[in-house]
Amino acid sequence: MSKLSEQVARRRTFAIISHPDAGKTTLTEKFLLFGGAIQLAGSVKSRKASRHATSDWMEMEKERGISITSSVMQFPYKERVVNLLDTPGHADFSEDTYRVLTAVDSALMVIDCAKGVEERTIKLMEVCRMRDTPIFTFINKLDREGREPIELLDEVENVLGIECAPVTWPIGMGRRLKGIYHLLRDEIHLYESGKNYMRQEPRVIQGLESAEADEVLGPMAAELRDEIELVKGASHDFDLDRYLKGEQTPVFFGSALNNFGVIPLLDEFVEYAPQPQPRATLGRTVDPNEDKLTGFVFKVQANMDPAHRDRMAFMRVCSGVFEKGMKLHHVRLGKEQRTHGALTFMADERATAEYAYPGDIVGLHNHGTIGIGDTFTEGEALQFAGIPSFAPELFRRVQLRDPLKLKALTKGLTQLSEEGATQFFKPIVGNDLVLGAVGMLQFDVVAYRLMAEYKVEARFEAVNVATCRWVSCDDERALEKFRNKNEQYLAEDGGGQLVYLAPTRVNLQLAQERHPEITFRATREVS
Ligand code: GDP
Repeated sequence: MSKLSEQVARRRTFAIISHPDAGKTTLTEKFLLFGGAIQLAGSVKSRKASRHATSDWMEMEKERGISITSSVMQFPYKERVVNLLDTPGHADFSEDTYRVLTAVDSALMVIDCAKGVEERTIKLMEVCRMRDTPIFTFINKLDREGREPIELLDEVENVLGIECAPVTWPIGMGRRLKGIYHLLRDEIHLYESGKNYMRQEPRVIQGLESAEADEVLGPMAAELRDEIELVKGASHDFDLDRYLKGEQTPVFFGSALNNFGVIPLLDEFVEYAPQPQPRATLGRTVDPNEDKLTGFVFKVQANMDPAHRDRMAFMRVCSGVFEKGMKLHHVRLGKEQRTHGALTFMADERATAEYAYPGDIVGLHNHGTIGIGDTFTEGEALQFAGIPSFAPELFRRVQLRDPLKLKALTKGLTQLSEEGATQFFKPIVGNDLVLGAVGMLQFDVVAYRLMAEYKVEARFEAVNVATCRWVSCDDERALEKFRNKNEQYLAEDGGGQLVYLAPTRVNLQLAQERHPEITFRATREVS
């Protein structure tokens, strides 16, 4: 095996999907702890110290230095190198999350055992299903009273439409929690409470049928045997192939807070989760083991370090080896670009990259020339496909307090839209600037950041736009004609693409009927 393919085989790049409060942060913390990346669990937590304050997003923004450095975390576990990509937490601000999911090879779904499948999890799963992303499931908070495990699996199967294969099974719950049973290894892991911030080394009993199980569990042992027999009969066996196709999810139970059940999850995860996979471009499929470097940008973040006013583009390496300082070809601009000072992400410390392999994330300094969806290569004109920009559902006209600040405003909005924090439209007629968002909170965040980072006081007011579509047509003359006829509804987005801003859905429908030659898209695939 060549060195590159060894490195590829070691990589596991994933994201956690969950509803707020299910335990994503706590679990991340424990992963880093078990990966040896942090000594004491608690460091991820600090960034969320004020999360329950009324404006917790704003507070998080103030603490950006901390929250952003942990947006990509790399830690070793056993023979593997794990890349965990954080997904922004707020329910109302999820476009970013969707894009992070285009950069991973698999995902881990965390569910609160008392709450079951929640609304945001459903939305995120829809995105995963679009790409058949393989999913591990962790049912958390076993130390609390929760719902019947069988009922929880039924809900996952029915609501999310994915088959469940239990790998660990709870022995009791809440105050009666005794441990978990590992179906694949025939092991009982006993639970000890009160070990929140220490690594649990649970006592493991080999064999459900063993005398030791009877000794330790007493009458619960017989109950457990019956239950496991039932579970085996009523559910599916773990099937690696079905998991990799996104048809089945292996399910684990535990308590992230108590470090319990996390190791079995991590052990099986690094074993079975897919290594970096081949990826489609508009022309061909790129194999991770190809010598030449390729990668795409899935996230752009402005002003990470207020002292330097820098912007960073997060590139996922798809093939080849990234070496510090190497020259890359920026396909969209058709230009070579040096990559001095590129960063890799070790746990939650930023470090300078020496090498990065497929599956790894590299932070490139961005002077406004890199956008979401951009492809980098060593010269080949490739374009990775499938990084969506979603049609916003909410629109506002931007009002400037001080008209002399128009330049700063335009700059701020351009940068924030490059980052995907908002979408920004310039109607072809008139001087208005229109912002689009997927959730209301996005407007608050944009106003706050315009003030904090660009010293621009902007207000937003209602605008007569109900929905929008990206328009295109192979026939340039037909497009030109359409453009002339519909000027009052057309705008350019931050990337210069033509967008139809419809005042009502009926208006949109009519426009579509009148112009069958024009393609109207609800998502813009960044290209
Ligand atoms: P996130 O919003 O998904 O990142 O959730 P957090 O990790 O911040 O957890 C939300 C709350 O649930 C916090 O108060 C955690 O301490 C708590 N929590 C997380 N895991 C567990 C667990 O296993 N048991 C209990 N009882 N609480 C937990």
